[in-house]
Amino acid sequence: MGSTMRAAVLYGKEDVRLESVPVPAVGAGEILIRVRTALTCGTDVKVFRRGYHAKMIVPPALFGHELAGDVAAVGDGVTRFRVGQRVVAANSAPCGNCFFCRRGQLNLCEDLLFNNGAYAEFIHIPARIVEKNTYEIPPHLSYQDAALVEPLACVLRGLDECNVLPGDTVAVMGLGPIGLMFVRMAKAVLNARVIAIARRQSQIDNAIRLGADDGVILDLQNPQSTITELRRQTDGRGADLTIEAIGLPETWELAPQLVRKGGVINFFGGCPAGTRVGLDTQLLHYSDITCRASFHHTPDHIRRSLHAVQSGKVTSDYLVNREEPLDNLLKVMRDLMKPNGHIKTAIIP
Ligand SMILES: [Zn+2]
Ligand SMILES: [Zn+2]
Repeated sequence: MGSTMRAAVLYGKEDVRLESVPVPAVGAGEILIRVRTALTCGTDVKVFRRGYHAKMIVPPALFGHELAGDVAAVGDGVTRFRVGQRVVAANSAPCGNCFFCRRGQLNLCEDLLFNNGAYAEFIHIPARIVEKNTYEIPPHLSYQDAALVEPLACVLRGLDECNVLPGDTVAVMGLGPIGLMFVRMAKAVLNARVIAIARRQSQIDNAIRLGADDGVILDLQNPQSTITELRRQTDGRGADLTIEAIGLPETWELAPQLVRKGGVINFFGGCPAGTRVGLDTQLLHYSDITCRASFHHTPDHIRRSLHAVQSGKVTSDYLVNREEPLDNLLKVMRDLMKPNGHIKTAIIP
C-alpha cells in the first residue's frame, strides 16, 4: 500500500493515542485485513488501566485484538485467502512444536505468538495466525458476531475443562463480557441451568436476557447472604460448577462456598499480579472439589467457537451494546473503566 492509516497506539497507563502510522507491509504467508469491526475486551480495559500486560502486549504498541474485516492484501504463498474475502483472525497462534504443543496444551505454547492492532484501519496478520487461526466469515454472519469468536473460544475452553453435563447447574460469578458469554454458552450450547451472580440487579437482568435461569446478588460486604441465597436455589447443595469471572481475590475465596460436594470451580478471572488468596483447606478436601484455572484458547476452540456463532446459538445481542468510531477510543476505554452498563463496544474504523 505504501500509505498511512489511522491506528490506536498504546503508550502506557491510560495513555492511548490515535496516530497516523504506515500501513503494515505484507510478507510471505501474511495477510492484511481492513478492519470493519473491532470489539473492546475486558483484557484491553485492564491493559489500559495498568499500562502493560506481561504476555499479550508491551507498549508502545498497536492496540486491540478482537476483529473481523476484509482481506486487503495477501502475501506470497497465501492460498486460502484472496483480496475482498470477509475474514476473522484470532489474536494468537501456537507453534505446534514445543513441549506443551506436543502434549496438546496449545494454549500454553512456549512460543505463543500474539497479535495486536485491531483498533486501526488495517491490521497485519502474521503467517502463523493466517495458517492456523484465520477463517472466512459465512455470508449470513455479521462482522460484529464474527469478531466474538476469539473471546468465545476462551469461554468454550473454560467450559470444556469442567465437563458440564446437560441439566447441570452452572453458577457464573461476574457478569462482564466474559461472564455473560459463559452464561450464553452454558445455556445455549451445553443446555445447563445457569445462575447469574453479580453486584447489580441490572447485570442479572441482562444475563437473564442471554438465557440465565436465576440470579443471586453478590454482596461482598455480606458474603454469607450470597452463599445462603445460592444454596437456597440449589437444594442446599451449591452449584455443580462455579465460574469465577471477576478476577478479585475476595471472589476467588468465595467460590468454594458456592459449589457442591464433588463439584468444580473454574477460577477464570485473572487477579492483579502479586495477589494471593486463602482457601478453606478442609472444605476443598472433604468436599472433594476440583479446581481449574483456565487460560486462553486453542485453534480447535477457535474453530468450534466460529461454529457456535455461525449456528446462531451465540450472537452479539446484549453483549455488544454500543458502537463508536475509532477516534472515540480513548473515551470508550475511560467509560469501560466505570461500572455504567457498557459491556462490549464495537469500534468502527
Ligand atoms: Zn479479548
Ligand atoms: Zn508451542
